[in-house]
Amino acid sequence: MADKAFKYVILGGGVSSGYAAREFFKQGVKPGELAIISKEAVAPYERPALSKAYLFPQGTARLPGFHVCVGSGGERLLPEWYSEKGISLILSTEIVKADLASKTLISADGESFKYQALIIATGSSVVRLTDFGVQGAEAKNIFYLREIIDADELVEAIKAKKNKKAIVVGGGYIGLELSAALRINDIDVTMVYPEPWCMPRLFTSGLAAFYEGYYAKKGIQIIKGTVAVGFSANEDGEVKEVKLKDGRVLEADIVVVGVGGRPLTTLFKGQVVEEKGGIKTDGFFRTSVPDVYAVGDVATFPMKLFNDIRRVEHVDHARKSAEQAVKAIFASEQKTSIDEYDYLPYFYSRAFDLSWQFYGDNVGDTVLFGEHDPTSPTHKFGTYWIKDGKLVGAFLESGTPEENNAIANLARVQPSVDSLDQLATEGLSFALKV
Ligand SMILES: Cc1cc2nc3c(=O)[nH]c(=O)nc-3n(C[C@H](O)[C@H](O)[C@H](O)COP(=O)(O)OP(=O)(O)OC[C@H]3O[C@@H](n4cnc5c(N)ncnc54)[C@H](O)[C@@H]3O)c2cc1C
Repeated sequence: MADKAFKYVILGGGVSSGYAAREFFKQGVKPGELAIISKEAVAPYERPALSKAYLFPQGTARLPGFHVCVGSGGERLLPEWYSEKGISLILSTEIVKADLASKTLISADGESFKYQALIIATGSSVVRLTDFGVQGAEAKNIFYLREIIDADELVEAIKAKKNKKAIVVGGGYIGLELSAALRINDIDVTMVYPEPWCMPRLFTSGLAAFYEGYYAKKGIQIIKGTVAVGFSANEDGEVKEVKLKDGRVLEADIVVVGVGGRPLTTLFKGQVVEEKGGIKTDGFFRTSVPDVYAVGDVATFPMKLFNDIRRVEHVDHARKSAEQAVKAIFASEQKTSIDEYDYLPYFYSRAFDLSWQFYGDNVGDTVLFGEHDPTSPTHKFGTYWIKDGKLVGAFLESGTPEENNAIANLARVQPSVDSLDQLATEGLSFALKV
């Protein structure tokens, strides 16, 4: 097969790829210069929808409704958008070999693609229980969620198993959002996780107590401090029981596993410098190899605000890092300069009628404020993180846009804090006055 050659190639067709494509267009990319190569069969979309409205029985999200860039209030890039702009959207094409020295990518079908500049936007893959040899973990109806094909399988199972039992393994983002989605679909849900509380990477015990209480009120059972160590299946090979390490055995018609992700960097092993599990980049998302950039989940980058090097697996960074890399490519071609990436971490989640936002860093002392009783009809509360006398992180549940902007501003400005007690008393009003 003849080589296909492009000036720019984006490898991956997820969130950062879509936002990069829009930025390429803004920067004046010419027809025929840019290709996106993706193993998914659809144009880039807002991945967070998969664990939220995609699974809802009402108000269901379906493509083309959530193609990028609707998640940030931007234009929706339908497949036609790419063809109109002369951008080659090469779908259902998995790259299995990358040779950065010869600037060549090879697909599973043996097609080869040449580029002058490459943006690596391969995202993450899920960690599977089969990776650890968990007994019976290959049974049918054990689901993971990363791509739209995974979500479609889960939707079919949800329809087939109405009023039946689901076990959700993992108490992070995916576990919490999927438990809520399953419950809304009238499924009996039990969550299982080893930590003492949910989302321990971000939540304090105080924050988690609210969400666990709220989930219990919605009829979700939570089993903490243990893990799934095996599964048994019926004669059709469908999961029937989950065995826990503490000896308990739970009935299950569906199991959903959300135990983390791994950045997809294997294609580039030994060819680029890696750090903290990702591909090391600078403040312009340039890797150690000239003309090769890495963005989104796979990039480890300088976090200027904290004078640190980090990797961030969140959609806001996927969008912004993609735009930064494309701007940097054009700036270097035009011999101009742009500012280094100066990112303020921003994470969010939505489940049931809850919606939280977090900005900054979750290190140091904490102060919990507001109405955080899960049984009360309203719940507006949050937490501040204070390190070395400065407020460095802020979390808010059920904030208005103005309040969310205020906590974002707080995390960026990092005001001094003299008294934690006074901060707790002031609560949200502290953010609104800074
Ligand atoms: C279900 C779910 C819900 C989420 N919800 C939230 C949320 O509420 N808030 C939040 O902040 N973040 C959320 N995230 C995280 C967020 O979606 C990711 O951080 C973001 O998608 C990362 O963008 P990316 O472009 O780096 O990777 P991705 O969006 O994962 O895109 C990677 C793309 O690369 C393709 N690819 C990979 N390898 C190859 C290959 N060898 N050949 C060809 N193509 C390849 C993949 O198929 C995919 O299209 C969620 C993630 C998931 C899975």
